Amino acid sequence: MSGSDSITCPLCGGKLVYWKEYIVTKTQSISKNGLLSNTVKKSQPYEFTDLEGFQCKKCAWVFNTVNDLESCRKYPHLIKWTDEHKNELKSL
Ligand SMILES: [Zn+2]
Repeated sequence: MSGSDSITCPLCGGKLVYWKEYIVTKTQSISKNGLLSNTVKKSQPYEFTDLEGFQCKKCAWVFNTVNDLESCRKYPHLIKWTDEHKNELKSL
């Protein structure tokens, strides 16, 4: 492994965070007089395949995987990160 393999921001060398967007729908029934029920039904997180990437914590550099598929090869960890995200969501 060479030093160029480090997973850091290409601009400033700062630490990166991995992000992925999901949609979760919360549903509450409404009574006749307009009160929301205390029971909240939550849908399973719906994932968008295109909305994921990395962001630098230091300089706010953002990388969206769909914008630059070529650069994704630099991050073979992507699949692992995605799986870890999914596992975490299951425990919500
Ligand atoms: Zn940066």
